[in-house]
Amino acid sequence: MSRVGEQPGKGRYTCVICGHVVFLKSDGEALKACPHCDSKRYAP
Ligand SMILES: [Zn+2]
Repeated sequence: MSRVGEQPGKGRYTCVICGHVVFLKSDGEALKACPHCDSKRYAP
């Protein structure tokens, strides 16, 4: 589980509420709140 504000590394993260997928392009990029549901948690 990854949260907004963390920098979990580049890759693909899925919103646990609505399933929206975001991609982080670099290891230094932080997760942002889901643009669809404002969730702050992503999987993995
Ligand atoms: Zn969402």
